[in-house]
Amino acid sequence: MIFDVEHETMPREELEALQLRRLQNVVARVYENVPFYRKKLDERGVKPEHIQKLSDVTLLPFTEKQDLRNHYPFGLFAVSRENIVRLHSSSGTTGKATVVGYTKRDIKNWGEMVARCLAAAGAHSGDFIHNAYGYGLFTGGLGVHYGAEELGATVVPISGGGTRRQAMLLRDFGATVITCTPSYALHLYEAAKEMGIDFRDLPVRIGIHGAEPWTESMRTEIENKLGITAIDIYGLSEIMGPGVAIECAKVKKGLHIQEDHFLAEIIDSETGEQLKPGEKGELVITTLTKEGIPLLRYRTRDISRLNTAPCRCGRTTARMERVTGRSDDMLIIRGVNVFPSQIETILLETEGLTPHYQLIVGRINNLDTLEVRVEVDEAVFSDQIKNLQRLETKIEKNIKEFLGVTAKCKLVEPKGIERSEGKAKRIIDMRGSQA
Ligand SMILES: [Zn+2]
Repeated sequence: MIFDVEHETMPREELEALQLRRLQNVVARVYENVPFYRKKLDERGVKPEHIQKLSDVTLLPFTEKQDLRNHYPFGLFAVSRENIVRLHSSSGTTGKATVVGYTKRDIKNWGEMVARCLAAAGAHSGDFIHNAYGYGLFTGGLGVHYGAEELGATVVPISGGGTRRQAMLLRDFGATVITCTPSYALHLYEAAKEMGIDFRDLPVRIGIHGAEPWTESMRTEIENKLGITAIDIYGLSEIMGPGVAIECAKVKKGLHIQEDHFLAEIIDSETGEQLKPGEKGELVITTLTKEGIPLLRYRTRDISRLNTAPCRCGRTTARMERVTGRSDDMLIIRGVNVFPSQIETILLETEGLTPHYQLIVGRINNLDTLEVRVEVDEAVFSDQIKNLQRLETKIEKNIKEFLGVTAKCKLVEPKGIERSEGKAKRIIDMRGSQA
């Protein structure tokens, strides 16, 4: 079902005209109300009236996560504090938190965008949505919550944690849709299994997963184990929260961006140059309608590409390729670029391994080292030691062959890697601490 036929199926010419009007409007607003942007635009000699066509977006300065930190907490807000009805914040493991504020209209738009997303994923009014994204300062929980209500579904605000209780309520309430990170979906599956609950016997039919990059192999794993359709949702708190883009259940090839609210570009993350349509690079987003904290050309650090070809589902909005890596997630091991998602793909294509893994990067005698710890399943674990060693060697060989880096593989017993209630911690980089 298409929730907002007018905006989701708008002819592209009309959509782009709408984007241009909104771009001109947002540039004027930040120039007027946000000293940070006024200064940046003045430095470039750009005035709001210089934005005459969509491609003029390249005249505008980028915004980085660090800019939000530097103006902590409310320095980039474009309206007075009295007009902000909600705050969210992302913690970040290093440095100051980033804080975002929403006006009443922002909250309303966000709810509608998430409702569109849920509908694109195959949910409808009357569905029972088990929302296991964290509630609180993190945007995941409340973002999905308002969208689910807007759609007319019944939302269970279970939030993160308390996994055994989650499994019980999932069964007792008869949820039909589950929303959580992909790694948590598998964690919940295991917990349920231990309690004698088989997901395949439950009425859950759709999983909507985001907040961390995941691969096609991970999707297959989730779909097979849980017996559901697993859909990728994209968002980030600086831009809005969940609901910036989503895959349509019909095609599942690329995530439709809510283009009437966001202008997306792909740039070369080294040079900052805008890339041509279809080229792969860093996703950059300008918010077109946001009032609380509008951002110009926000650098997401997520690697993707855009496809504006019409989709079989009927939507005309551009699709972004699913994000499998971030430009700052990229590991450089002895000069070779490696994305964790590439290693994940290799692991999941190997019989007997589970999707629970960790990458430990270290440095010995000034040389980078990479250790891949991965859990095996029960059947493999009870196998002979020499077979386990053979499996380790095989994985090391595949990583060397496909990625060009030397890694040490260490198989770990089932449940040997700590489970996360939210985003999985996949990378432990110890190089900084050993300098
Ligand atoms: Zn589609």
